[in-house]
Amino acid sequence: MKYIDHHVHTRYSFDSEASIEEYLINGKKMDLEYIIFTDHQDFGTNEKNYVPLIDYDEYIHTMKKLEKRYQLPIKIGVEIGYEKEHKGEISNFLNKYPIDFVIASIHYGDGGDFYEGSFFKEKNRKESYRRYFELILEMVENFQDYDVVGHLDFITRYGPFKERYYEYVEYKELIDIILKTIIKNNKGVELNTSGLRQGEKRIYPKIEVLKRYKELGGSVITIGSDAHFNQDYCAGYKEAKSLLKSLGYNKIYYFENRIGKAIDI
Ligand SMILES: [Zn+2]
Ligand SMILES: [Zn+2]
Repeated sequence: MKYIDHHVHTRYSFDSEASIEEYLINGKKMDLEYIIFTDHQDFGTNEKNYVPLIDYDEYIHTMKKLEKRYQLPIKIGVEIGYEKEHKGEISNFLNKYPIDFVIASIHYGDGGDFYEGSFFKEKNRKESYRRYFELILEMVENFQDYDVVGHLDFITRYGPFKERYYEYVEYKELIDIILKTIIKNNKGVELNTSGLRQGEKRIYPKIEVLKRYKELGGSVITIGSDAHFNQDYCAGYKEAKSLLKSLGYNKIYYFENRIGKAIDI
């Protein structure tokens, strides 16, 4: 089986205009067996007008129509924007729809936004990053209705700081508990390649974290481009695969009906 990109946004995401049809046409050319979309369902924002939740009845209806028209099976994934205040709504949503795969991400925290910067107010760089990892820990400890944690350390993409770099050792204790909790609960992490084509020129999470995950016994890992444009489908995929191989991983995971299956890299 051909491995496919496990983090893909379409025009249904508030921050993407990518055409579903174009993904399907290209997917056919790539000889994919199926395609999976993981649009944003951001429960953790107060800006309801800015980030409307997707109507999944309509979403699934449209996807069914398109898979028939283009003769390429579509699997329904979702990228949940988690905030603990919305845990109940998230579980209700996930119980209601036939979802194949759930990425749990933190995009907001303490009522603040990463992208427009309010999260970073009155926090220095270290405090911001620490708080972000605390939010991730809070999520993996209290929420089990997900398959992989999205872009585990991408907080460094945002913030008003001159230096946005971070060292694993600075947050080792927190990151280690996060990884151990993920492993203990039989969940996974994603290798997100979006940073390779943006300012940071690195994958999320960084290599040291992926090494540590492996050391601690972690094996469930997906690869996702986090494409918001059609041309980014599968971007960085080959690099990601060879990196995982070099770190000693020999399987990657795909998900169907919320069940992870491993295939050789
Ligand atoms: Zn995200
Ligand atoms: Zn995403």
